Amino acid sequence: MTEKFAAVEIIAAKRDHGSLSDAQIDWVIDAYVRGVVADEQMSALLMAILLNGMNNQEVARWTDAMLRSGERLSWTELDRPTVDKHSTGGVGDKITLPLAPLVAACGAAVPQLSGRGLGHTGGTLDKMESIPGWRASLSNAEMLSVLKQCGAVICAAGSGLAPADKKLYALRDVTATVEAIPLIASSIMSKKIAEGTSALVLDVKTGNGAFMSDPNRAKELATVMVALGKAAGVKTRALVTAMDQPLGLTAGNALEVRESIEVLQGGGPRDVVDLTLLLAREMLELAGVHGKDPERALHDGSAMDIWRKMVRAQGGDPDAPLPKAREVHHVLSKESGTISSMHALKVGVAAWRLGAGRSRQGEKVQSGAGVEIHKKPGEKIQAGEPLFTLHTDEPERFERALDSISDAVAISKDGSIAAHLPLVVDRIS
Ligand code: URA
Repeated sequence: MTEKFAAVEIIAAKRDHGSLSDAQIDWVIDAYVRGVVADEQMSALLMAILLNGMNNQEVARWTDAMLRSGERLSWTELDRPTVDKHSTGGVGDKITLPLAPLVAACGAAVPQLSGRGLGHTGGTLDKMESIPGWRASLSNAEMLSVLKQCGAVICAAGSGLAPADKKLYALRDVTATVEAIPLIASSIMSKKIAEGTSALVLDVKTGNGAFMSDPNRAKELATVMVALGKAAGVKTRALVTAMDQPLGLTAGNALEVRESIEVLQGGGPRDVVDLTLLLAREMLELAGVHGKDPERALHDGSAMDIWRKMVRAQGGDPDAPLPKAREVHHVLSKESGTISSMHALKVGVAAWRLGAGRSRQGEKVQSGAGVEIHKKPGEKIQAGEPLFTLHTDEPERFERALDSISDAVAISKDGSIAAHLPLVVDRIS
């Protein structure tokens, strides 16, 4: 086959601050998937994009080309509107678990294709897999069947969805090109558009525990993603939310499932409940579903009923005890005073080092590993009281986890609290 372009000319154009044409973008993505553009050529192009950026037309076309590299799911058989949520990831961010059944209980359908954790941020599939028997991989027909039966499905994205992203993401991971806004936005949105949802709420995290620690960059990312979603006909809106302290009181797979179940039972930590309700209301409004109050659905058991049905439909046992780590270590406070701040990244890295996350793709995670938080900013603590409990199957992991978590907390003597981000930093619609 005669190729339309030469990769080296496209790389040089971006290196020299040029804009790529639609035809060049279509070709380079397709040729990369076919193996005609080599990894070293795509690496150079990705670095040129990271350094020199892309205009709106280029990002839109790049996203569309990634989307067209695979299949696009469709849920027209369902009798209710579809709506999904995507979080850019953080520490203790278990919101998808209570949110998907909650939104389904209020009348929308939630096709939630999720990912695994990498680095210090957890992944929904790793959390769900700590439920005995639960299966992440479903065929498209199984996905539809669970959605029809339960109103929500949480599962892995199949290999047919945006295959260009799978190849590009793996390459970005090893070439220090993950952090480019056009590349993050196109990666996330190509998958979300391919998933076939008609409405989408993005939860773009910001603060030290997030991918985009700078709120202005997080806002820029959110704005680009909202524009991409709308251009593809998906009703899209974004919240930029705080990730400068962990969400809730747990970071780690089974620990987070336990906390999510507390939320579905009408309890759970205030920040997790508030964010779950906020996102549920945004999703229902965007999907045009009115009439049922999400707060009520958390208290009357209807969201919990859907959770149990959903877990069962994927082979899981909602009544089985969750795995527990073999060893625990209590971190006690050395001082008395008020918790002034808690560094999300340091807590996330500790959970990761305890075995809750992986350092290489494909590694197995420990279901029981992670960090339990006993006090949050604003609460008083006495010297000798527990601050954290660390959980792992391998006690040799405690030392490195302690290296990260031992200075994660600041305590004030005068009751003051350090400046922190509000739960919702910005809203883009
Ligand atoms: N999540 C994705 O799916 N892609 C990115 O590039 C970053 C986060």
